[in-house]
Amino acid sequence: MMNIILLGPPGAGKGTQAARLQAERGMIQLSTGDMLREAVAAGTPVGLEAKAVMERGELVSDAIVSALIGERLDAASTSGAIFDGFPRTQAQAEALDLLLNERGRSLDYVIELDVDEEALVERITGRFSCVKCGTGYHDRFKQPRVKGICDACGSTDFCRRPDDNEQTVRTRMAEYRAKTAPILPYYEQRRLVRHVDGMAPVDEVAAQVSVTLDGEA
Ligand code: ADP
Ligand code: ADP
Ligand code: ZN
Repeated sequence: MMNIILLGPPGAGKGTQAARLQAERGMIQLSTGDMLREAVAAGTPVGLEAKAVMERGELVSDAIVSALIGERLDAASTSGAIFDGFPRTQAQAEALDLLLNERGRSLDYVIELDVDEEALVERITGRFSCVKCGTGYHDRFKQPRVKGICDACGSTDFCRRPDDNEQTVRTRMAEYRAKTAPILPYYEQRRLVRHVDGMAPVDEVAAQVSVTLDGEA
């Protein structure tokens, strides 16, 4: 049972690759962004607190996101977990170690998706997804096979995230540089970090991730 982190700035392809790993390997995708959006939609206390922070592109508190991960980790107890968008700070990285340790688990890899920041603005502003099943698409890089109809579930309802605009993306990137990129050395010391070229086409990125998970002697 593997536990891996997908690390990379907004738009790097974490969600896309996590969904593939979940489908192909039966691992469970744990996305704090998705959990927070669910909380916002449901109007829970966590959602009420997170909404404005997310709209500004800033980070929600470490305590909130660490608690969300803790709750979901047990559901992923037998199948391995893909951490998507978590941890984003040193405190979250330490919280994750504790949560895993308590369950007799540990991290196998931290996969960093290397990307060019300027390309990310186009990726994010072109992103949309299916309202019904959550499948992700892109105006230029991944249109549904039949325009206007979800490949996965046939729905014709799509949405865009309120924070996927250029201004907020710049803030999110600055947050990544200031708070998330600095946690890499913590994992490098433990020789967990593997680099994948996130600028390659989706299938090629997926192939590189697969080789990383399977292929090391
Ligand atoms: P993240 O979860 O890291 O924010 P996503 O997986 O949601 O990123 O990807 C952002 C957008 O870019 C989505 O619209 C997705 O379809 C598209 N995308 C993801 N990976 C690639 C890729 N390798 N090449 C081109 N577009 C991609
Ligand atoms: P992306 O990968 O496209 O940047 P996410 O869906 O992972 O977006 O996150 C969307 C927003 O949710 C972030 O900008 C932030 O406000 C909040 N968020 C998600 N995960 C975390 C986290 N681990 N720590 C703090 N805030 C988070
Ligand atoms: Zn769908």
